[in-house]
Amino acid sequence: MTLPAVADCVFCKIVAGQIPCFKLLEDDATIAFMDINPVNPGHALAVAKGHWPTVDVIPAEVLAAVATTAQRIAKAVMAKLRPDGVNLMQANGPGAGQSVPHLHIHIIPRRPGDDLLFNWQPRAVERAEIEAVWHRLKAGL
Ligand SMILES: [Zn+2]
Repeated sequence: MTLPAVADCVFCKIVAGQIPCFKLLEDDATIAFMDINPVNPGHALAVAKGHWPTVDVIPAEVLAAVATTAQRIAKAVMAKLRPDGVNLMQANGPGAGQSVPHLHIHIIPRRPGDDLLFNWQPRAVERAEIEAVWHRLKAGL
């Protein structure tokens, strides 16, 4: 497969070796490296080598490969850094906080009291509201 690339994409430049990174591992479809703006020590990224911006457009087998790479990094984080927990986080679109429009999964070690929030406020909703959205989503599957 010829991988799609975008000239001004920072992750495509890392894949091409035009920007250095603290590489953790690499295979045919993915690369993993340290996040240079970490939210916690050990924050790493699992990245598709090809430029697909978001989860709705990336081929399923490439997404699976990125998930497998994220799992390998998470295992190493858990074994070597022994955090209290690990979040895997993947954002799609600026409204979700995606800063680089090239699909990636964050591997984020967690520590007690790290005060890292995902801006998540559960709210009470009526069953009818959930059911209405459920119908809309099912129509898209
Ligand atoms: Zn890219």
